[in-house]
Amino acid sequence: MFIGIKELERGKLDFEEVFPPGSIDFRTREFRQAAPLTAAGSAELAGTEIHVVGRLATRLELLCARCLEPVLHEAAASFDLLYRPVKSITRDEELSLAPQDTDVGFYTGQGLFLADVLAEQVNLSVPMKVLCNPDCRGLCPRCGANLNRERCRCGPRAVDPRLAPLAKLAERKKQGE
Ligand SMILES: [Zn+2]
Ligand SMILES: [Zn+2]
Repeated sequence: MFIGIKELERGKLDFEEVFPPGSIDFRTREFRQAAPLTAAGSAELAGTEIHVVGRLATRLELLCARCLEPVLHEAAASFDLLYRPVKSITRDEELSLAPQDTDVGFYTGQGLFLADVLAEQVNLSVPMKVLCNPDCRGLCPRCGANLNRERCRCGPRAVDPRLAPLAKLAERKKQGE
């Protein structure tokens, strides 16, 4: 859906859209969309600015930061955004954009694509790091074994020499059990 200035000049535009996986370009490999994305809201003109208000929800597949297994993440966001025409910002204004103005975006030409607005909001809502489980044991840095479900294949010989005393201690403890 294109949110065009011409349409907005005729009045407020309500939207309620469903985007199947693959229809939005998120411009990232950090995650992929794993369920339809629903978005509802409205857009209207405020002077030369486009005011977009709404909410979105979808399910994303990310990779666990420790073991790299896929993790499903429910993503939801509500947004209230102002888009200014790119040519209207002066150098001074650009410099004076305070941190609280971060909800101000820019559009070029005749308007903006709702999909681009949503892609940006989804990107902002994604956590920096997800874990499949708070206790995820991750991968062995040497053999790559997923320590959640298999034993490390490195064997005692590969133990870092600096950690060898610890390993010996652990072995002795095991034998004593
Ligand atoms: Zn994990
Ligand atoms: Zn290993």
